[in-house]
Amino acid sequence: MSNIKGDFPLFKKNPKLIYLDNAATTQKPYAMLDALTEYYIEFNSNVGRGVYQLAQLSEDAYESSRKTLAKFLGCSNKNIVYTSGCTESLSLAAHISQQYIKEGKKYIILPISEHHANVLIWQDIAEKNNLELYWVSDADLILNPNNIDEEILKKTAIMAIAHVSNVTGEIYPVEKWCNLAKVIDAISIVDGAQAITSLKINIHEIGCDFYALSAHKLYGPMGLGVLYINNKYLNSSPLKLGGGIIEDVEQQSHSLLDGNNRFEAGTPNVANAYAFSKTIEFLNENNWIDLLNHTHELGKYLDQELINIGIHPLSVSNKLSKTHISSFLIPGIHSHDVGTYLAQKNIAVRVGKHCTYPLHKHLKVNSSIRASIGIYNTKADIDVLIGSIKDCINYFNKDTK
Ligand code: PMP
Repeated sequence: MSNIKGDFPLFKKNPKLIYLDNAATTQKPYAMLDALTEYYIEFNSNVGRGVYQLAQLSEDAYESSRKTLAKFLGCSNKNIVYTSGCTESLSLAAHISQQYIKEGKKYIILPISEHHANVLIWQDIAEKNNLELYWVSDADLILNPNNIDEEILKKTAIMAIAHVSNVTGEIYPVEKWCNLAKVIDAISIVDGAQAITSLKINIHEIGCDFYALSAHKLYGPMGLGVLYINNKYLNSSPLKLGGGIIEDVEQQSHSLLDGNNRFEAGTPNVANAYAFSKTIEFLNENNWIDLLNHTHELGKYLDQELINIGIHPLSVSNKLSKTHISSFLIPGIHSHDVGTYLAQKNIAVRVGKHCTYPLHKHLKVNSSIRASIGIYNTKADIDVLIGSIKDCINYFNKDTK
């Protein structure tokens, strides 16, 4: 693990940088950057409509990337749709879901910790379909959703949940949520934005209707997202209409292709899809499971070191296991002051509400400092962070002495 940082050129340019903002985005390996250049030099041409060799190469690069990704996620390539990012994936999932809301259904259930990308769309869908958001903040109910009020469950149309919280790093029991959704005849949506980089994902085992993620969180390019769509929903009406998805067009009407193709109207981000598949190959070559274990161990180390200096990471439930993210506050010092102090020491963390206003309001916290670990981080990075937090506390407290 110690050498993997050498595969990320940004750290060659910034050898002193301690990058602990991986939940926002990750740094990029040569494997991904080289693939982008390779694509534009070797295969660049549009997909879908070409008969010449270059167009075929491009098509092959695009479709084989889908297969690589599907294998990585434990599903079929026929269920994978490329989007511009996790936010768009969730919007597409919401757009499709609302086509299947049954008579008598009233609620969209979601945990209090959801990212705004998995909140705003549901508020919109609720407003347009006369539904209501039902927030679950009780940790025991997040762990055991079957115990949610029976009358609510009966009337639930949609259950939406993040696999891993982007604030607490806690891992949610998404399998339980998706199983329950099946039992109560609801649609299940999983936001995998943070899980993709911290867990071995098997969509088949999770049993969800939709699973959303962004490539840039997994060392891949920005501007590429993924939505897994269960077979049941593949012939739904898409969010985008245009070229590349039609079977026939008349002056007043059209018919669409069947399957995942119908959700990718227009020119897709072929270069990014290709580069993302090369990123995944790079992660597999470096033993993805070992890399995951490494980030988990560092996550535990970070929490322990924080606790040792009297700082307790935010949590929804201490019964949940955790991954690579910890958010915390330092009493008496504003999070933005801490972030700025750390930035001066070349340590990149994120401060604010991390697109989770409902969670921060629920925890009665104005803002927090978030440190999130990537595969290139080391124990030494955590030690520098902890040392600098101690210095920061001394620095601000000396003014009040
Ligand atoms: N969900 C979660 C849990 C996230 O952490 C993020 C990114 N911060 C998103 C959704 C949205 O991802 P993107 O900005 O890449 O669309």
